[in-house]
Amino acid sequence: MIVDGPHFQATDEGELVFLLTDGDNSRRPTEHDILEPDEESPLRDNYYLRIPLEHRDSDRWRSEIAKYLAPLVLGATMGRLPWTLAAFPTGYELFLHKSPRPQGSAGSTLRRDFLLYGSTDVPFFSSPLEFVRHAEWLMRGAHRTPDRSRAPRCECKYCDVDGRNQKQSVISRELRARRARVLAQLGDGDADADSDADA
Ligand SMILES: [Zn+2]
Repeated sequence: MIVDGPHFQATDEGELVFLLTDGDNSRRPTEHDILEPDEESPLRDNYYLRIPLEHRDSDRWRSEIAKYLAPLVLGATMGRLPWTLAAFPTGYELFLHKSPRPQGSAGSTLRRDFLLYGSTDVPFFSSPLEFVRHAEWLMRGAHRTPDRSRAPRCECKYCDVDGRNQKQSVISRELRARRARVLAQLGDGDADADSDADA
């Protein structure tokens, strides 16, 4: 075990494990029905599909989150492992919202938006990179303000308790720069020229 608590674990196999959560099973999409993967039907055009942990889209989200989370919480001790999250924090769940495209737009397929639900502090996260700072906050002990609002002292786009009000594009740029610095420390600076496209 590379890190064993108090708030997270980092295993020798390259998995990050949350030991703290702000998750709640009641924080789920409510606007439309939630379907299981085997309940999809061409007759429906606006619904949330539950994405199980073993689904490749869950894998993709968890490894993309860990790619930028590992440099924050492990620094150079992350080494060269391809990191992933063993699971989302307890109470969190990934959904795929499928919805009709606006009239007149190109293509007949449904619009697809992946959304991570479950946080009590944030309605949902709409990309892996949006969740990275919030995940870091959980792994550092999920500290809150001492006042009555008990706001999370988290630097993600949504919590923003210090009013910095940063755009996700700025946060994402910082996350990529941090990863590049750690890789450079490891003597591996050219290994990460792949990621300018992911928001
Ligand atoms: Zn947050």
